[in-house]
Amino acid sequence: MNMNFERKLAIPMEVKEMYPVSAKLTAIVEKRASELNDVLSGKSDRFILIIGPCSADNEDSVIDYISRLRRVADKVSDKLFIIPRIYTNKPRTTGDGYKGMLHQPDPNNKPDLFKGIVAIRELHMRALSETGFSCADEMLYPENHKYLDDLLCYVAVGARSVEDQQHRLTASGLEVPVGMKNPTSGDLEVMMNAIFAAQHGHTFIYRGWQAHSFGNPFAHAILRGYVNKHGQSQPNYHYEDLVRLCDLYAQKQLENPAAIVDCNHANSGKRYLEQIRIAKEVMGNRKYNPDVRRLVKGLMIESYIEDGCQKVGEGIYGKSITDPCLGWEKSERLIYEIAEYV
Ligand code: PEP
Ligand code: MN
Repeated sequence: MNMNFERKLAIPMEVKEMYPVSAKLTAIVEKRASELNDVLSGKSDRFILIIGPCSADNEDSVIDYISRLRRVADKVSDKLFIIPRIYTNKPRTTGDGYKGMLHQPDPNNKPDLFKGIVAIRELHMRALSETGFSCADEMLYPENHKYLDDLLCYVAVGARSVEDQQHRLTASGLEVPVGMKNPTSGDLEVMMNAIFAAQHGHTFIYRGWQAHSFGNPFAHAILRGYVNKHGQSQPNYHYEDLVRLCDLYAQKQLENPAAIVDCNHANSGKRYLEQIRIAKEVMGNRKYNPDVRRLVKGLMIESYIEDGCQKVGEGIYGKSITDPCLGWEKSERLIYEIAEYV
């Protein structure tokens, strides 16, 4: 192969021995897992809000953000089940650019994957111990899931990964709910097929093992908008889109039908302020149609301390270095407004 094998990395079991999670924290993870399952199975009618920065680029500002979120979450806990986004590995459209804390624990320095593995485990662990939140992350590299599997509340499979067999088969063996995004092309059948694959058991190769998964009954849909053949962002959060997804679910034999609407990405065309209007439109449509209300069980919002985004190296505290995010004051207001609608 035309590459250097630079360094053998510690396996998940070794990293977990170095950075173990306490019984007290495990109990929090388990409690939240059961609360989330109740929402996805329809037992609880709380509404899910997956909210936080596009990328977790800096430990201090991410913990600061999640601590602010904790205070708000406590006030709306009868209405909302909040899951902070701690996205530690980022898919890149061309492969260039910041690939997340896993690759670059310091965005201004060159990649260091061992430090990255430790940094992402420490960040998720700090969020859990300091705020009581188990969080969401994207499963960009299926074989890395076990570095974090004892800490997470939710996993998303991204728009660029959802058609990939290894992601689907790995999702079928996860203990946490997996959100399958629609692909960037917008073909909802691809997403439905991913949900079907993840809800069933499979035998496949995982981390050098012949492994057998048992199926993930809480695999579900995430609508994130799409890009048409002219390269233009197109939304898929409108009323007709949600009704169509109800119809697609009705045609399939799937457990726990559920959808999360991602308010940013191609739904907003990355005009991050539009997330406010999109969130309210979806909440209004839930009120209008009981089928939509049953299906749409949550929203995803990209939010951070400062509005917008910046280039790596500009160094503004709490401002995204990937997709533009809604700043803290606007996010806080929006969370209360969403809770009012539930
Ligand atoms: C994201 O959630 O930041 C993201 C990269 O999403 P998508 O896979 O929908 O582009
Ligand atoms: Mn993003």
